Amino acid sequence: MAIPQGCAPNQSRVDYPSSMPHIFEVAPTGRAKCRGCGATIAKGELRFGERLPNPFGEGEMTQWFHPGCAAFKRAESLLEALPDAPADLHDKEGLEGRARGTLEHRRLERVDGAERSPTGQAKCRCCRERIERGAWRIRLVFYEAGRFSPGGFVHLTCHRAYFEGHDALDRIQHFSPGLEETDRKELEEAYRTAPPSEGLEKGAPTS
Ligand SMILES: [Zn+2]
Ligand SMILES: [Zn+2]
Repeated sequence: MAIPQGCAPNQSRVDYPSSMPHIFEVAPTGRAKCRGCGATIAKGELRFGERLPNPFGEGEMTQWFHPGCAAFKRAESLLEALPDAPADLHDKEGLEGRARGTLEHRRLERVDGAERSPTGQAKCRCCRERIERGAWRIRLVFYEAGRFSPGGFVHLTCHRAYFEGHDALDRIQHFSPGLEETDRKELEEAYRTAPPSEGLEKGAPTS
């Protein structure tokens, strides 16, 4: 099921002529925010820096992530850097497993958490039906040229069809840190009891 590395769009090496390697470093201040989750990276914490061509001019820029967030959202870059990671990187093997899991399906990197739909207006990217107010939905983001932008939603109950059977619960929970314990349990229950995906796969192709 694994997609060949390097064939996904926007990840081509040809755009990176003199690329500085991605890095890990101890955060010198507590000011930078993680691009993956939006939370502050604490001073003294080991952070992952993805190097990208600067879209505004010459040279390169660095975008910072919690290593655990990068494993879910920038897996390929993290995997490139892991062999040179410092020895005190917490749970290196776990991070590698998480990042490899991310690369198993191209849609997994889009997961940005889950929430109860505040309105009944959005349509599910998977089944194309409206997402009822109060129903659980998975937030999606799309990554392009150093930016994450909102990518719509899918029903939580459409996860088997949308991710084609790949498990996304750990990343859904990871990017939903604000949920109360009762909501977290309900989310998990709704995820696990989602209907099988037969019938949905034959529908209109999703992207
Ligand atoms: Zn983060
Ligand atoms: Zn749906």
